[in-house]
Amino acid sequence: MMKQLQSQSGASVFQYALLPQSPLPAETIGGNGKATLLIEEMFEKRSQVDLTEGDTVQTGQKLAPFKTSDAYVISSVTGKISAIYPYPGDFGSHFTAVDIEVANDEMAAPIEDLEPTLEVLQAYLAEAPGKPPLHLLGDPDRPIHTIVVSGVDTDLLVSTNQYAIRTEIHAIAKGIEVLKAAAAPETVAIAVPRDLIAGFGHTGADVLKAVSPDYPAAHPKLILYHAFGVEVPADKNCEDMGYAFFSAESVAAIGQAYDTGRLPIEKLVTLIDKQCRVKVITARLGTPVGAILKTAGIATGDRDRLILGGPMTGTAIYDEKLVVRADTDAVMVQDAADVNLVSDYSCINCGECVHVCPTRIQVNMLVRFLEAGQYEDGAELYDLLSCVDCGLCSYVCVARIPIYQYIRLAKYEMARVSAVAEASDES
Ligand code: SF4
Ligand code: SF4
Repeated sequence: MMKQLQSQSGASVFQYALLPQSPLPAETIGGNGKATLLIEEMFEKRSQVDLTEGDTVQTGQKLAPFKTSDAYVISSVTGKISAIYPYPGDFGSHFTAVDIEVANDEMAAPIEDLEPTLEVLQAYLAEAPGKPPLHLLGDPDRPIHTIVVSGVDTDLLVSTNQYAIRTEIHAIAKGIEVLKAAAAPETVAIAVPRDLIAGFGHTGADVLKAVSPDYPAAHPKLILYHAFGVEVPADKNCEDMGYAFFSAESVAAIGQAYDTGRLPIEKLVTLIDKQCRVKVITARLGTPVGAILKTAGIATGDRDRLILGGPMTGTAIYDEKLVVRADTDAVMVQDAADVNLVSDYSCINCGECVHVCPTRIQVNMLVRFLEAGQYEDGAELYDLLSCVDCGLCSYVCVARIPIYQYIRLAKYEMARVSAVAEASDES
């Protein structure tokens, strides 16, 4: 369960839960004879792709079917392609979905020797479990001097990376060795829950940092602030300051690939049931969420809420056919009776959101601009871009205003408008 405390200001403060010293081995949950792989590229017409229904694929095979793009996915199963179709994501993202009917006999695709270079990493492991942000490395215009391996999970109840750091330390050490060889950062740091700091001496990381158990201390900008003494300006990201955050699971996946010569296909997922009980399972990439719930014995009813991610910042989904992807760290089921419905009440200026905000944004004022769609003004006058996306303001809002959802939409819209402006300047 989430542990709720009171801060000195009287605002609510949650603490991250710690896994037991030796967590139970993650149960492996199989699919239901079908996998759906999602490729990060919009599918517009059949002639764009070199794959077709009836083609067979092998486990670990790289599928890069677009003639005009390097987008790819690694097949997590052996079988026959049954459908290829466009798949809309949230916030304007588009994918191409490839359905595969799983065969009884599994075949492992051969893989060439993996050299520890950025090119090889980007060509084979960008879609590995944990989704390592390899695109951040090797950019001369935005050099990365420190890679931070994060063994903490940003949302409450989610234990995926904490599990990885407790159980996959040898693979993480290998992954760090590969990243050092490929990207030559000045420093590799590893961030772990404060209570676990003893016993992390053999990872190959240069620096060990402790993260406070107080939510939302595990958000990257807050780790930089509290553990490294680096303040990220409102309009910048951690990578602008030379820091790239890799989840512990993604570094373990890199290590496994180089240790075994096989591309990893199994994702750690924290499963949170209606009683907020937590267990970490493994499922192959592309496994439908419905198959995971069924195998885990979690029934969903009318009006229950299904969430990808944790309780503070996860995204509600409406279809159990949605699948586990490289960055799906948690699946949560909320009972209909516990779902906090949003309202269209006005802000009553209670100030709770301001008390609880870790970056001291005047959220009560900001929300007025966001509700009116005045995103630029909200950013300029009330510091929208200093928000670290913790969701606490939404959680405490007595008027049940979906503040965090407004914030996500505002940031997305501002980034979209700026990208369009940049593209038009370039052309
Ligand atoms: S504005 Fe809300 S989501 Fe953003 S940092 Fe403050 S409390 Fe968190
Ligand atoms: S918590 Fe909600 S009602 Fe209270 S000041 Fe903030 S936005 Fe207004």
